[in-house]
Parts: sequence; structure tokens; C-alpha cells
Amino acid sequence: MRRAVFLDRDGVLNVYLPGDYAKTPDELTLLPGVGAAVARLQGAGFLTILISNQQGVAKGLMTQSDLEAVTAKLRAEVPLDAVYYCPHLKDEHCACRKPKPGMLLQAAQEHGIDLAQSVFIGDTPTDAQAAQAAGVPFILVLTGQTKTAEGFVIEPAATVASLDAAVDWVLG
Ligand SMILES: [Mg+2]
Ligand SMILES: [Zn+2]
Repeated sequence: MRRAVFLDRDGVLNVYLPGDYAKTPDELTLLPGVGAAVARLQGAGFLTILISNQQGVAKGLMTQSDLEAVTAKLRAEVPLDAVYYCPHLKDEHCACRKPKPGMLLQAAQEHGIDLAQSVFIGDTPTDAQAAQAAGVPFILVLTGQTKTAEGFVIEPAATVASLDAAVDWVLG
């Protein structure tokens, strides 16, 4: 069984755009130091896996090839072992859209991951709920949508100011 670090995308790896999506590679701005931080996890033997809701294609805001181009830019800078997107609209009530744990459970099955020995790093309550539902400890990073841990819906295992600090916590 492998250990994994699951990573949300927007607000964790790249700059969160309030009410908007990164629809083209130009609109995706990586946060400082994220490539090196994720590389440290891989170096320590963790699988690094992206877990992201992306309804932009289903909403008609971008094409599938736009999403693939955005993902290619991300993966050129950030060493990810696997990428899971939920492409569904919220009202499709699929099993994979966070706060549901479907993507985490699928990744665990496909990669032989011990969820309880893994970690989810995210920036929103929906990330925390998905992690809790899958039995994965959650680390809240304050680089995105959530600016303070006060009143956060689920008590995180840790709250940190940057992805690099989250990696320190995981490896520490
Ligand atoms: Mg996010
Ligand atoms: Zn879905």
C-alpha cells in the first residue's frame, strides 16, 4: 500500500480567481514554490495526486482541449503522479464531485493507496468534507478561498500559510 498526498488545484497550486476559472493556460498562475514543494513529497515516497472539481467544460465556459492545455501547463511545473477531475455539474449529483469522496476512493483503488496514512491538502470546506468522508486527514492551506481557520466547518489536522509549510507538516 502506498501513501499519497492529495492536492486540490485552485487556491492550493494556482491562484484562486474568485467566481472565475482558469480557462486557458494564460489564466493559470501558479503560486510561488509549489513545484518544489510537491517534488519534496515525491522525493519522500508519496504519490502526488490532484483532486479537483472542474465544471467549466460542462458549463460551456471552456472546451475539453482548453482543460487539457491548462492541465499540461500545470503538470509541466508540478510533478503530479495522477490527475482526477470531476467534470460534472453540481446538479448532476454525481458520486465524484467534492464534498463527495468519489475521486479519493477511485484514486485509492487505482493506485493501491492507504487512505488513513495519506493526507489531503485543500483550501475549502468542500475539500475538508471529501477528505473526512474518505477517512483522510485534512490540512487547510490559507493561500486560496479560506483566509482564516476560524469557524472552519471541520477541524483540520493542521492549518498552514503555504503549501511548503503543509509539506513540512507532512514530512515532519
Ligand atoms: Mg480550491
Ligand atoms: Zn463528478
